[in-house]
Amino acid sequence: MRLKTLATAAALICVPPLAAQPSAPPASGPPKLLVVISVDQFSADLWDEYRPHFTAGLARLGSGAAFRNGYQSHAATETCPGHSTILTGSHPARTGIIANNWVDQGVPRSDVGIYCAEDERVPGSSSSNYTVSPVHLLVPTLGELLKQARPGSRNVAIAGKDRAAVMMSGHVADQRWYWTGQKFETDLKGAAVPQAVVKGNAAIAKALLEYREPMEAPAFCQAKARPIAIENSEKIVGNGLFARNAEDAAAFRASPELDGDTLAIAAGLVDELQLGKRPDPDVLAISLSATDYVGHTFGTEGQEMCLQLLELDREIGDFLAVLDSRGIPYSVVLTGDHGGKDVPERERLAGAPGAARVDPALAAGTMGLKLAAKLGIKGFGLVGESAFGDMYLDSALGPRDRQRLLTAAVAAYRAHPQVEAVFTADQLKATRVPSTAPDKWSLIERARASFYPGRSGDFVVLLKKDVTPISDTSRYVATHGSAWDYDRRVPVLFWRPGMTPAPSDAVVDTTDIMPTLAATIGLPLQPGSVDGHCLAAAAPCPSESAGNTERGKR
Ligand SMILES: [Zn+2]
Repeated sequence: MRLKTLATAAALICVPPLAAQPSAPPASGPPKLLVVISVDQFSADLWDEYRPHFTAGLARLGSGAAFRNGYQSHAATETCPGHSTILTGSHPARTGIIANNWVDQGVPRSDVGIYCAEDERVPGSSSSNYTVSPVHLLVPTLGELLKQARPGSRNVAIAGKDRAAVMMSGHVADQRWYWTGQKFETDLKGAAVPQAVVKGNAAIAKALLEYREPMEAPAFCQAKARPIAIENSEKIVGNGLFARNAEDAAAFRASPELDGDTLAIAAGLVDELQLGKRPDPDVLAISLSATDYVGHTFGTEGQEMCLQLLELDREIGDFLAVLDSRGIPYSVVLTGDHGGKDVPERERLAGAPGAARVDPALAAGTMGLKLAAKLGIKGFGLVGESAFGDMYLDSALGPRDRQRLLTAAVAAYRAHPQVEAVFTADQLKATRVPSTAPDKWSLIERARASFYPGRSGDFVVLLKKDVTPISDTSRYVATHGSAWDYDRRVPVLFWRPGMTPAPSDAVVDTTDIMPTLAATIGLPLQPGSVDGHCLAAAAPCPSESAGNTERGKR
């Protein structure tokens, strides 16, 4: 059975259900609406695997300037850093968004964890119950720069996650909506709530009251429906069909329903705000989060991901058909905020003997206490979010104990068989942010692109390839976040009506998207203000000016 998302979209935007349509007539002149879609956890591995099965929106977007070797080139391949690169044109080393969460031991609250899209200065904000804010994003987004240059332009974002909406729209947004667990909400104050959002939330609330029947899987997806038992849990994944109990909002989120409703509201906002209909161009950023939740909940190679991606293809096709029917001169770029990786239990069946879950002894808290006891140091020793990534020394330590602990911790992590590399903050400070093609970056260069002094840890731990950094499978069973290409490589698909298909193996960076879009609408960028480079296959790039020309060897 088809999900109710299309019906919801049609009801919201008052158009009949739209069958797959050929693309709109060829465009002339610059687009008036830049649609930027991030599919959360959409790896290039999934793009390559499923591309022959896409027939609707993703097939259309693959028929433009389609780069299958895009890179979220930094090491910390998480949602917040990934989204921060797409519309700023810069690596996390410049955006300041080094991770989803980092540690600030100087913050005047007991919770030293900082969420990337919070303002921890607001009384009562904590890293888990936070006040949403773009304050940590250190650079402007395309939508902000466009509004500065052409004040009539609108900067609009809608997403399944607050951090995605915030990082793609930035500090000055006209509309910003994201799913908060029961409905779409905003952190922007004062403006009237658009009817598209009111209607979308009402439709979701109504849908959530009802049990959802299991989907019917096509034969191609059924072929992937092998049950996989997850270690240390009762969970079986691989053969799910997205049946959902009434009022199960978590199951709603980890299913195609969330993306369908996100796109339905996006289409409603296009109509209500008349996006693309004014002299100045508008930016509509959309982040579709369900692929990520499906990946975390079920892994990436089962029937569930197959169904999710086929529904995503259909939903994006319906959304593009709405834009076609409105006669809006638009362009689309689609990418991922990071890649992803399957559950190790299924990877081993597929012939990857090294696929394993991380040793919980590597967790910052566990390792810190062990080392502190060994060295006779008081306190917790280390603090960090998990068993890899940024690690912080207890800031209460004096210089001598600090150095002893750093030396011991780096040695202990390096000695562990699941650890590939450990880099200290001093090593990273001494490394230049690379400007070469990201497929050739060394590990320390990947880590450098994620490093921002004052936010990053005292050292960073990179795990070996095929080590899944989740040992407790009670919440999620699979994840991303590593410095390996399965988490770095994402598709980058530029498409406009009438565009000549130009599939490409060329290596590009997600930081190239913003300068390419800027060139598309003739928005000049300050030389050196972004890390990315305009891609000539997708836009009329300016001939000179640093930071706005194509990188030589890609
Ligand atoms: Zn993500």
